[in-house]
Amino acid sequence: MKQLVLATHNRDKAREISALLSDLGVEVLTLDAFPQIGPIVEDAGTLEGNALLKANAVGRSARLPALGDDTGLEVHSLYGEPGIRSSRYAGEHATYAENVAKLIANMKGFPPRRRAARFRCVLAFVAPGIGPRTVEGICRGDILEKQRGIGGFGYDPLFLPKGFDTTLAEMDLSLKNKISHRGLAIQAMLPILKGYFE
Ligand code: IMP
Repeated sequence: MKQLVLATHNRDKAREISALLSDLGVEVLTLDAFPQIGPIVEDAGTLEGNALLKANAVGRSARLPALGDDTGLEVHSLYGEPGIRSSRYAGEHATYAENVAKLIANMKGFPPRRRAARFRCVLAFVAPGIGPRTVEGICRGDILEKQRGIGGFGYDPLFLPKGFDTTLAEMDLSLKNKISHRGLAIQAMLPILKGYFE
C-alpha cells in the first residue's frame, strides 16, 4: 500500500488529519513511526513557510511523500495575534491551558464586536516527482470570554464558529472536521493527493 507521512509532532492534529484522509486508500503514518525525527524548528516566519519546512524536513528523513500543517489563530482586534505564535503565545513551551488563559486575559473587557477571529490552516504536500503544493483553509468565528466544551484541543473551547452555537470543543470530531480550517484545507488538498497517488 502507498504511504504518506504526516509531518507533525502534534498528536491532536495527526488524529484529525488521519480521520480526514481515511478514504484516500493510502496508509497514513505519523511521526510515531519515525522516532529518529526530532523536533523541527519552525522559523520560516509565515504559516506557508513553516508548513513547507515541516513537510520537506520529514519527507527527506522518512523518504516518503509528506504532508505538513501549520495553523494560526488570528484575532482581528489583536492585529492578527497570536497568529504564527499560536503554539507559544504564553511562552516557548506553553501548554494549551496557558495559551488559552493568556488569550482570555488579553481580551478581557473586549465587547462582542471586537471578538472576531479566524483559524487559518496551511497544508503543504511534498513528494518525489512533483513540486511542493500548498493549500489553505479558513474558519471564521468569535472568541468567547470563557471556555466551553472539553473536546478538540488548543483554543477550541474559546472559539465559536460563525453560524453555530457550539464551540469547536463542544462538537464531535466529525462535525469539527466538516467545518474547520483543517477540514477545509484537506478538502482543497484532496484532489492533489488523489492525483498523485492514483
Ligand atoms: P502549530 O501549527 O504547530 O504551530 O500550532 C499552532 C497552535 O495553534 C497549536 O499549538 C494549538 O494551540 C493551536 N491550534 C492549531 N490547530 C488548532 C485547532 O484546530 N483548534 C484549536 N487550536 C488549534
